[in-house]
Amino acid sequence: MLIFNFHHIEKHLLHPERKHISMSPQGLSRFIRTLRLLGMRIVSMQEVLAATPDAINDHRSVLLTFDDGYTNNLLEALPVLEAEQCPATVFVLPGRYGGTNEWDQGHLPESQRDQLMSLAQMERMAASPLITLGSHGLYHRDFPTLAESDMVAELSESYQMLHQTFGENFLPVFAYPWGHYGPREVEALSQSPYQAAFTVETRPWRSTDNIYQIPRFSAFYRDGNPLVLLAKLARHNLLFA
Ligand SMILES: [Zn+2]
Repeated sequence: MLIFNFHHIEKHLLHPERKHISMSPQGLSRFIRTLRLLGMRIVSMQEVLAATPDAINDHRSVLLTFDDGYTNNLLEALPVLEAEQCPATVFVLPGRYGGTNEWDQGHLPESQRDQLMSLAQMERMAASPLITLGSHGLYHRDFPTLAESDMVAELSESYQMLHQTFGENFLPVFAYPWGHYGPREVEALSQSPYQAAFTVETRPWRSTDNIYQIPRFSAFYRDGNPLVLLAKLARHNLLFA
């Protein structure tokens, strides 16, 4: 299975340094259409959790994920996902409803930081049958640096909040902030209600991988260009898998 990780969907690339975490709405649409033209099938998180080892090893199955829960996911990504009838999972931060990106942009005035969805906006997004929510922890803290009790609280409280607020629109899946984790985090997740956890390691997911260390490819701005996406898939030997 191929899993792609997005952050921002925005009409214009605000800064060149965002080219690894941003894509235009048009680019997202072309990205989805290119994968489908290649015979790939974009699956929901429900299907991933129920997948057999053979289905996981199939490179023609693709999962799309969005990290952090920016307002542009609702305003720019959701219309594209609905137009293309394409499922996706959004990993959100229930400790920061309506907040901003303080973890990477704390040096900027609040008005210049990237805006996260409010609870009401997240409810609108989760109301789409195409969208599943997952947990990105409470506050986007760096898990390997946390005291054991703080790490466990981040996991259990984010689970409780999302489960209570979103019911079955939330599935017990987790994405490590910045993709940072170690053996302690894997062990804690395996003891938690979460059924899967996602990293940012750049390779396909194979059924033999640990379910709490699922790799994801980052989607870059230029991957919205079909030729660039084809080259990327070819580079990883994934075109004719
Ligand atoms: Zn993040």
